Amino acid sequence: MILTNDGVVVVDSYSKPSAAHTLYNEIQSLTKQPIRTIINTHFHWDHWQGNQTYAMHSPGLEIITSERTKENLTRPDAGVGGLSYIEKQLTAVPKEIDTLKSDILKASSPEHKARLEANLQQAESYLAELQTFKPALPTRTLTSSMTLNEGGREIQILLLGRGHTDGDVYIYLPKEKVVATGDALVDWMPFLNDGYPEDWVQTLTALEKFDFAHIIPGHGSVAPREQLAFFRSYLADLIAAVKQAAAAGAALPEMQKTVGDQLAGKYEQGMSRYPSGQYRDRVGVNVEAVYKKVVQKR
Ligand SMILES: [Zn+2]
Repeated sequence: MILTNDGVVVVDSYSKPSAAHTLYNEIQSLTKQPIRTIINTHFHWDHWQGNQTYAMHSPGLEIITSERTKENLTRPDAGVGGLSYIEKQLTAVPKEIDTLKSDILKASSPEHKARLEANLQQAESYLAELQTFKPALPTRTLTSSMTLNEGGREIQILLLGRGHTDGDVYIYLPKEKVVATGDALVDWMPFLNDGYPEDWVQTLTALEKFDFAHIIPGHGSVAPREQLAFFRSYLADLIAAVKQAAAAGAALPEMQKTVGDQLAGKYEQGMSRYPSGQYRDRVGVNVEAVYKKVVQKR
């Protein structure tokens, strides 16, 4: 959230309308200024599915993103976000609910049963939300970096190249020396499946040229500038290790294990600071993504 002299700018709108609503109330407990602008950093579901909540509360709300992200939001074959992903979830969540119901009947202990029941309740309320979704798409797009001057505050929206997706934007406040990065720079293991690993390293190098002291990542706590080098170095080392293993003739399952072990000393601790997105949970899928995208070029 960026406070200006005549309104609030929110970067990314959260995963679902009910969650966005809670956040909206929190913002309004801090300031009575209207929320005038949302900026979506990329098209993934957990960064834009709350747009509609803000649109409902703030008539005239401007929703800004890159042209490419807007295309991804409406493309039928986009990855884990956008209108097509809402459709996919409408099919997937009822199946998840059926599975949970049958697992509850077979639950081995009262604790396990209680956990499944909590998951079931969550899935059911999410499905109810999905069925009444009124997705709010961006109203304004950019094809190159631009500057907003909102109520006395300079906000740059940077378009620096492909990375976590092909439409990532970075929100940079030069005076405050802060950058919000969406998932192109996070405080845990990256999600690569809709990404461009080799471009991503270059794009982070382009971002590094800007003068900032603090990073607000897409997931995790506010991080110092040094997080950029750590995160980029993980991507670069991962790509190099996968290429090397592939050149030595390793098959994917083998390289998932060897590369995971090989990079653990340098990255496991720093990438496992939260219960979610930990090193060992994701390194295998990261290796697979790099293998497919960089080695096989699929
Ligand atoms: Zn993402």
